[in-house]
Amino acid sequence: MDTTRVGPEQYEVDAAVGNAWLRPHRVDSSVLFEKFGFDRVETVPKFAQRTDGDRDCPDCDGECTCSGALYLWTPTAA
Ligand SMILES: [Zn+2]
Repeated sequence: MDTTRVGPEQYEVDAAVGNAWLRPHRVDSSVLFEKFGFDRVETVPKFAQRTDGDRDCPDCDGECTCSGALYLWTPTAA
């Protein structure tokens, strides 16, 4: 089994972006972004209300108030 780490560097791209749904009571995808060398460039409070506005969130009663994080990876940041 090949255990080589798979990350954005293998695709020879100039940059990669992503966003993480920050769920306060769970381990969220921010852990993965940071593991693969992405830098958090912004934390957006009430992320779903600023984007789709109607996220079905298992952590919030009613409207989702979870924050989101925007991540950037560049070859020099890794
Ligand atoms: Zn929520």
